Amino acid sequence: MSSIRVLDPKIQNKIAAGEVVERPSSVVKELIENSLDANADEIEVFIEESGMKLIRIVDNGDGIHQTDAPLLFQRHATSKIGDDYDLFQIRSLGFRGEALASIGAVAKVKVETKHLDGEPVTIRFEGGELKEQGPGKERQGTDISISELFFNTPARLKYVRSMRTESGKIIDIIQRMALAYPGVSFRLTLDHSEKLYTKGNGNLKEVISDIYGLNIARHAVRIEAQDADFRITGYAIRPEVNRSNRNYINLSVNQRHIRNFRLSQSIINAYHTLLAKEKYPIVVIDMEMDPKIVDVNVHPAKIEVRFSKEKELNGLLESAVRTSLKDEMLIPDVSKQV
Ligand code: ADP
Ligand code: MG
Repeated sequence: MSSIRVLDPKIQNKIAAGEVVERPSSVVKELIENSLDANADEIEVFIEESGMKLIRIVDNGDGIHQTDAPLLFQRHATSKIGDDYDLFQIRSLGFRGEALASIGAVAKVKVETKHLDGEPVTIRFEGGELKEQGPGKERQGTDISISELFFNTPARLKYVRSMRTESGKIIDIIQRMALAYPGVSFRLTLDHSEKLYTKGNGNLKEVISDIYGLNIARHAVRIEAQDADFRITGYAIRPEVNRSNRNYINLSVNQRHIRNFRLSQSIINAYHTLLAKEKYPIVVIDMEMDPKIVDVNVHPAKIEVRFSKEKELNGLLESAVRTSLKDEMLIPDVSKQV
């Protein structure tokens, strides 16, 4: 029996990568979050072979300063939070400083970036090692390419290669992010053909049309409700257009796409008898709140969150959706009947 020792940081990062970037779609999500946190309003994504050959994200955000470059791939290195006070009121999508360290440990990464007040730099990082750092192209923003994902973790490579749904997952995550950020233009190119484009002009109904088609957008009913703690905005699609699963319930908290069974259930309850059994609504809803009310630090993918006023939020959400549908006279208003 050997004694206890601390693992080499390179091995630590390889292990952690399994949690943060378990598959190509989670890499795509983390990288887009970084572009959004850098205030980009144009994000282009290029995917080849379901992300196993290439994941490239080009943004027009603030860029990375050359003095920060050495910290990019270091674990727990982040520009987004400073102390534990910040951790309880997270305003950015990222905050753990883990994604790039994890990705850099299990792939070949090339970053070309130019910060607003910095010099252009190129950085190459492969399998946990810095390979190159030098001058870059004179272009504002960040262009990051991930190639040969999981090249040095054979078991994961084999596992991920056997998955068939990865392109679908990548499209799904980008659709949800585009719906949460109507002010940002997204373009997705899969194996050299364009799969998705949103203009980024701030019009959510247009994004719904770009993603789900004009017919669905035409059936969209505006949702707007507010109380002391929450502001709920978005669209609910009229019940005559519906789906057979819950995947079309798009929820975000302060523009972070989340999954939450109870909130989805509140929306389904609001449609009440308007939907047949086994039919589910299409909605796109953002819930704005003080970041102190929501804990995003409960799940590695940051997709499940906890609320300190969950009951109140559920109540407001259900009534917001119901009121909008009622205003459309889809639900008979019993109080007005004689
Ligand atoms: P986190 O997002 O949790 O801070 P990451 O590992 O995803 O951790 O990124 C590390 C840091 O690299 C970020 O805090 C940010 O400063 C910088 N960074 C990463 N991607 C970009 C980007 N596209 N534009 C600007 N800065 C970036
Ligand atoms: Mg990040």
